[in-house]
Amino acid sequence: MQDFQKWQNDDLAILQKLSQLGFVEDKANSTHTTNSPAKKSFESADLSAINLWSFRNHVPLSGHFELTGRCNLRCVHCYCTFEQKRDLLSTQDVFQIIDDLHEAGTLGLVLTGGEVFLRCDIGEILQYLQEKRFILRINTNATLLDEKLLKLVANLTNIYRIHVSLYSAEPDIHDAVTKVKRFFSKNAQ
Ligand code: SF4
Repeated sequence: MQDFQKWQNDDLAILQKLSQLGFVEDKANSTHTTNSPAKKSFESADLSAINLWSFRNHVPLSGHFELTGRCNLRCVHCYCTFEQKRDLLSTQDVFQIIDDLHEAGTLGLVLTGGEVFLRCDIGEILQYLQEKRFILRINTNATLLDEKLLKLVANLTNIYRIHVSLYSAEPDIHDAVTKVKRFFSKNAQ
């Protein structure tokens, strides 16, 4: 975890707010009270200030995490090669990357693939990301979302958006894009 004392005074207000939210750890808390000028200036801080702070301090606030290169569809525009028979990253690899991102100060992640719900450990990964307090967006084709997975996702409190691929209101067009028949009705549910 980074040390507050290494950062510039202008950044302290934002860091203190992030600390109050539990996103970063203030190791030097005793030296910066909430009555400091930095606290007052936080009231006018906006998103661009947070972005500037993260840029200055080399903190990757958000990112995309490609959990797998596998997918059950074959979309014409997709960059996946579909050659992978199994995931390159083990569960432990994924946990290690999550730990590294947490240590670096990352707050938000987009989970993408391939199709993330093809991973048999997706439940463990989502639980771990919640424990680490990441804010998540999930990209999915939704074809594998059965009742068990839907319940799992519904019980998570850290997902702010789920993006579902749907390429047309016409089943034939949708299936022509994904190159797999019968998935339109599943996606459109
Ligand atoms: S659903 Fe997404 S990952 Fe799967 S083939 Fe289509 S574009 Fe690629």
